[in-house]
Amino acid sequence: AEEQLRQAQKMEAVGHLTGGVAHDFNNMLAVVSGSLELLDRRTAVDDPRAKALISSALEASKRAGNLTRRLLAFSRQQPLKPEVTDPNRLVAGMSDLFRHSLGADVQLETVLSGGVWRIHVDQNQLESVLLNLAVNARDAMEGGGRLTIETQNAHLDKRYVARELGITPGQYVMIGVTDTGSGMAPDVLAKAFDPFFTTKEVGKGTGLGLSQVYGFIKQSGGHTKIYSEVGHGTSVKIYLPRYMGDAVDGGDADRLAVLPNN
Ligand code: ADP
Repeated sequence: AEEQLRQAQKMEAVGHLTGGVAHDFNNMLAVVSGSLELLDRRTAVDDPRAKALISSALEASKRAGNLTRRLLAFSRQQPLKPEVTDPNRLVAGMSDLFRHSLGADVQLETVLSGGVWRIHVDQNQLESVLLNLAVNARDAMEGGGRLTIETQNAHLDKRYVARELGITPGQYVMIGVTDTGSGMAPDVLAKAFDPFFTTKEVGKGTGLGLSQVYGFIKQSGGHTKIYSEVGHGTSVKIYLPRYMGDAVDGGDADRLAVLPNN
């Protein structure tokens, strides 16, 4: 639990630092690429060597620009635009997106349980979180495998809450993304949420995916939990609070009455 508090503080500090650096860097980059474009226009077409050099410099500054934009998006806690959302609908609506990003050798399985509560969440952000998790899962399943996406109502009781800092006991919707990939060794698992922690090669991973997931879910009043075992796979479970704006119908009230931990 203390670890999680440290984690949150570290994220905030890194966020501020990254934001400042990325912002300044972006301004300098604008000067660099602007000058390159001018130079390109002034360079005669009959100097192909110079043209080629300029174009590779422009290409590199474009990549650098992409990176700074991602860093800025990461550090800026964008204001969320939460909407009342049916989790099953959101997940089902993403199946084409999932299939495309997974490739042919990964099987996609969707297990949507009936009667799942609604949540109040920024849909775009949640979609990018789920896509992020799916891409991580694919990267962990080099030789193919199975990705399971599930939804389920969850009661986080006092025992669970006591183990995990920063959440309130109550009713949540769990969205789980489970792969049959390489899994994470305990030392990797311990650092997985750390900003900039990556085991992927340079250019492939930024180490920002899971820290973004963690930050967004926390900002939405929820909680993220990773279960992983080397050689078996990884399961990332996100818990988002049930939307309580609905009038609770009779059936629900009956069920609530028999809950042991309320
Ligand atoms: P990135 O994907 O850019 O490396 P992340 O923050 O998303 O950044 O992930 C951090 C690290 O956690 C990854 O480099 C990888 O080692 C590990 N990881 C994340 N998801 C999985 C997964 N589904 N299976 C195995 N390892 C994972």
